[in-house]
Amino acid sequence: MLHPLPAFTDNYIWTLQDGTHAWVVDPGDAQPVLAWLQAERLQLQGILITHHHADHTGGVQTLQQATGAPAYGPMGENLPEGVQRLTADDHLDVLGHPFRVLAVPGHTAGHIAFYTDRWDDAPLLFCGDTLFSGGCGRLFEGTPAQMLASLDQLAALPDTTRVCCTHEYTLSNLRFARTVEPGNANLQRYQAWCEEQRAQAQPTLPSHMVRERAINPFLRVREPSVRQAVQQQDAAATDDVSAFAALRRWKDGFR
Ligand SMILES: [Zn+2]
Ligand SMILES: [Zn+2]
Repeated sequence: MLHPLPAFTDNYIWTLQDGTHAWVVDPGDAQPVLAWLQAERLQLQGILITHHHADHTGGVQTLQQATGAPAYGPMGENLPEGVQRLTADDHLDVLGHPFRVLAVPGHTAGHIAFYTDRWDDAPLLFCGDTLFSGGCGRLFEGTPAQMLASLDQLAALPDTTRVCCTHEYTLSNLRFARTVEPGNANLQRYQAWCEEQRAQAQPTLPSHMVRERAINPFLRVREPSVRQAVQQQDAAATDDVSAFAALRRWKDGFR
């Protein structure tokens, strides 16, 4: 079973469990995880970490001390002691499912994602702060070229891939996306659905890759509609990377 635990104001700690054992992704806070493990009578078997930011790692040490579960995170980032390090194309067995490590630098220099092509008959992606529904992470440590390559790698995953992002940023991302592409009908429909979900205090996530390709401007920098809108902001943004960089800058200043 796949289930998001809300944490802080807009984080999700994604969990996988088989009725006995559990794994968690990016536990920024240990308390919601410990409460959930106890309520569901589950034993924590492992912790996955996508990048070093505190809202993704703050609970790791407490969880390791409380449960003895191993933690796995990216090479080259400042992580709690004892975290085992992974690089691109490493494989990890999670509850009998083979997960592959994808290197997706940009938000941070070492950011990784976890992907499996079979969990409940559909692919599953944990992408941290690289890809959000309708948006992408800010470029704190990487270049626009790195982030575009990372997003291209994710966008090439199968249509049915469930996209598990760490933050509930969808509605605010969609306000920007509709400014970029006011004529995108998929975007209008999706926004209406997301507003309904949030009105009922339900997550908008996971998203699906086929949907993100249809609505997420950061996966659509090669579409003429997005390209034209970006060039109205920055006439010099004529190639893919400079268009992506200009789109990201536009979003950074968007209120
Ligand atoms: Zn982050
Ligand atoms: Zn974050």
